[in-house]
Amino acid sequence: MPFSELGLSEKVLSAVTAAGYTTPTPIQEQAIPHVLARRDVLGIAQTGTGKTAAFVLPMLTMLEQGRARARMPRTLILEPTRELAAQVEESFIKYGAKHKLNVALIIGGVSFDNQDSKLTRGVDVLIATPGRLLDHSERGRLLMSGVELLVIDEADRMLDMGFIPDIERICKLVPFTRQTLFFTATMPPEIRRITEQFLHNPVKVEVTKAATTVDAITQQLVKTGREDHDKRDTLRRLIKSADNFKNAIVFCNRKREVATLHRSLVRHGFNAAALHGDMDQSARTAALDGFRKGETALLIASDVAARGLDIPDVSHVFNYDVPHHADDYVHRIGRTGRAGKTGTAITLVAPADSKSVAIIEKLIGQPIPWAGEPPRAEESAEREPRQPRRDEHRRSNGPRQRGPRRDEHRPAPEARQPAEARPEPIREQRPEPTREQKPAPVARIAEVRQQRQTPPRPRETHTGDDDAGSHLPAFLLRPVRLKA
Ligand code: AMP
Repeated sequence: MPFSELGLSEKVLSAVTAAGYTTPTPIQEQAIPHVLARRDVLGIAQTGTGKTAAFVLPMLTMLEQGRARARMPRTLILEPTRELAAQVEESFIKYGAKHKLNVALIIGGVSFDNQDSKLTRGVDVLIATPGRLLDHSERGRLLMSGVELLVIDEADRMLDMGFIPDIERICKLVPFTRQTLFFTATMPPEIRRITEQFLHNPVKVEVTKAATTVDAITQQLVKTGREDHDKRDTLRRLIKSADNFKNAIVFCNRKREVATLHRSLVRHGFNAAALHGDMDQSARTAALDGFRKGETALLIASDVAARGLDIPDVSHVFNYDVPHHADDYVHRIGRTGRAGKTGTAITLVAPADSKSVAIIEKLIGQPIPWAGEPPRAEESAEREPRQPRRDEHRRSNGPRQRGPRRDEHRPAPEARQPAEARPEPIREQRPEPTREQKPAPVARIAEVRQQRQTPPRPRETHTGDDDAGSHLPAFLLRPVRLKA
């Protein structure tokens, strides 16, 4: 079906032509007529399916009638991260160039006052992250009683980030009679409950991402040592030797690692920027803009950049760390091979990562080939001499838990307080061993003696930028006096 048969206005159709789109994507074809008919829509779709235009284009058509009143937005779009919110704003700018609509972005980490003055002028489209939106509402600076259409985007990501209570509050602040468009990539029970509670007789539209996206990505595993300096050496070597390299996103599991790796790469002369959830908003925007415009070749990022961000031309993705959750792997590698281009995703695999890699391969339903030597069997069986992180320890007792997760490797929720007031990220903590795990005293003494004889591991001397190193606590390295 061509765009012209979906019921979109002339202005919107000319914007679609100007964007170069010839045919609607399946989600656009299936959702747009229902949105225009004012039905609630439950869209099960990932990013990359064209779902943003599936709500932006009919919204623009509908907003051609009517005017905004001060402090009473006409439509509201909720996004889990500031970057996604900014991306949706760009879509309104791109498709709505001829519409003269007031679009406001209400996100954390930037000045309240500018947002407040925009709200005063009257807003047709309010795009917000939940925390900052509720802040404005609680201050009495924003009335949600005029919202005619509510979009909840990336709902399963909101769940992962602990935003569901905020979403429920917001749904109760907007009129019962509003139209709701709800998008999620998956339907865990908590999301199903929300849809049953807040959608009225929705039309369900389900699409899967074109398989060609993954086919366009060459995936590889590369063996690396377990130490940070080994991993950094390997990464530098891979970047320098990469075929058809244009630019790359390098994903780390933790924000602290992003900062450390970024510093190290810059010291080695790489043109790199960092992006993680603890950076203030202007720095996040500048990092992303620089990378989009091609001014920066490497973006070192936490998973804040993994989902949803649409950067059309990324030649390589490097997983500096194997992600803890297999679905994060899929989101990360999906940053390359976009918009009909091919891409390469290379994952550094340290000895302790073999289990995580096996889970990823199970999820994607195929083995990922090794570039170069795979590790020998005994190497992959070897465990890192580190304790599991608190969240790993919890998860190791059962299947992946859904619900609020504030792990350090996750993007920080758009905190209700300003970025600078947010608490320090969770540091690695050693869980108290259970009774069965505690080594017997004799075995423990032998272990300590052995550790005394083990020379300290060499640290990277040429950068000196890492606070990591030995995983042993200092007290275990002290000499032990044994009674005769
Ligand atoms: P999204 O799933 O909304 O993140 O969109 C993914 C990409 O698809 C964006 O770069 C859009 O510009 C692009 N796109 C959206 N609709 C179409 C279409 N009908 N034809 C071609 N590309 C599209």
